[in-house]
Order: sequence, then C-alpha cells, then structure tokens
Amino acid sequence: MLKTGSTPRDRAVRSNANPNPNPSTGSAIEPIPKTSLMVALSNAGSKRQPEGASSSMQLTSKETKLKNSKPTPELSETGIEETDLSTSDEDASSWISWFCGLRGNEFLCEVDEDYIQDDFNLCGLQAQISYYDNALDMILDNDSFSGDIDGEENSEIEPAAELLYGLIHARYVVTTRGLNAMHEKYKKADFGRCPRVFCGGQPCLPVGISDIAHSGSVRIYCPKCDDVYFPRCKYQSDMDGAYIGTTFPHLYLMTYPSAKSAMTVQHYVPKVYGFKLHKGSK
Ligand SMILES: [Zn+2]
Repeated sequence: MLKTGSTPRDRAVRSNANPNPNPSTGSAIEPIPKTSLMVALSNAGSKRQPEGASSSMQLTSKETKLKNSKPTPELSETGIEETDLSTSDEDASSWISWFCGLRGNEFLCEVDEDYIQDDFNLCGLQAQISYYDNALDMILDNDSFSGDIDGEENSEIEPAAELLYGLIHARYVVTTRGLNAMHEKYKKADFGRCPRVFCGGQPCLPVGISDIAHSGSVRIYCPKCDDVYFPRCKYQSDMDGAYIGTTFPHLYLMTYPSAKSAMTVQHYVPKVYGFKLHKGSK
C-alpha cells in the first residue's frame, strides 16, 4: 500500500496513523533502527491490518480531499457511494424511457437507439427540426449535449427533441420492430378501448389524422366499427397525431390480422315504441 516513493499526502496519512499504533506492532518496532522504521511500518500495515482497515486509511486520504464538504468519515464514504448510485440510476433511465413514461405519452413505444443512430432512418427530418443536432444528442443521451448551451437555448431544445422523437416514432412504428413493440401495447389495451357500446370494449389503435406535425392531435381507431374517436384521457389528446401517423393502424392490422375482431359489427337501431323508424322519417 505505502511505498517508499510515496507522496507527501501519503506520508501525512502515515504520520496520522502513528499516534495510535497496534500494541503488538509497537513492541515489534522498538529494536528496529529509525531509517527502516517506515518500511517496517508500511509492511506491518499491509500484512497485519485487515482489508477494512487499510481501505479506511485510503479513505482518510480521500477525507482530506473532501474535508470541506463532508464533516465526518462516515458521511464522506456515504457521499461517495451516493454519487456512484445516482450516476448509475441516470444511466439506467434513458431520455427515451423517461419521455415515453410521461403522462399523456402512453401511446408511444420506445424506439430502439440503433434505429435512431442510423442516419438513413432520419432522412429529411433535419429540415423540420430546429436545433436538430442538439435535439438528437438529447434523445440519445450523448454527453456532447451539455456543450455550449445556455438556459434559453436549452428550453428550445427540449420541445425540439420531443418533436424529433415523435417524428422518428411515426417512422419506427411502421417497421417490423416498431409493429412488434406496438403489438405488445395493443395486447394490453394500452391505447384504450372503443367507447361505442356495440363494440364491447374493443381495444383501439392510435392514429393521426395527418402526417404533418402540428396538424391535429392523436385519435384512436377502432378496428371493429372502423371509426375514429378522441382518446378518453385528456392528456393523451394533447399528443400530436403526427407522432403516430395515418398509416400505422392499417398496416398493423394487415401485419396482425388476428388483432381484428372476427365478431360481426352490430349497429344501433332507433325504435319508437318498439317499431323501427322509416328511413324517410329520420
Ligand atoms: Zn368501435
């Protein structure tokens, strides 16, 4: 642990350890000449002291570094561990996971980063997004994102990243991987159910009324009655329909024909005292 060519900080640690030596070690040291005392001490320290003790000596050197911010050794050690944990937590939760987990974004699936990193898949989006490079860095959690960006720019990059992700999402959900990801959500009825009584709670699929951003919010399409509705949740209604696109539900049903209910569609029949109304009287 402690080498003869040690730094001044190491020597300071060593001198701090001397005032409270192990009694047995102390008796063994006495006959040894002063010049070799330091070497003997360092050897004794590395051999006799358990690992915990030697690491506590190392921590002591860290304490000197952290003395100003952390008053006690226990807190210093805890502080180091907490920092490590928070870093790993950030790594575990990517921007994509965070964004898809937001309230109102339940219709979105998580786009594979491999797909986003392929420039071919993003062709044409650069012209539609301001701060395109920064927005892409934000989506992919690239470290370069924190470059020379002030707070005002950052507030513009965030919505740009959301729009970029939405437009990438619309392209992704019509790929094989995207259709599979959406299929998992459909099986759990994550997109809601048809509000129509005779559809009997048929799970719906999200659809956009336009492929152009800011043209309208997302709707839900019922494969049974072949109609579209507003999502029941207010927050979901705020999502741009272009994040899903006009093609997705229909390509999905072509890919997974079993998802379409085989039951015949019932239609409501208006009656007056049990008699059907004549077409001309409606
Ligand atoms: Zn329906």
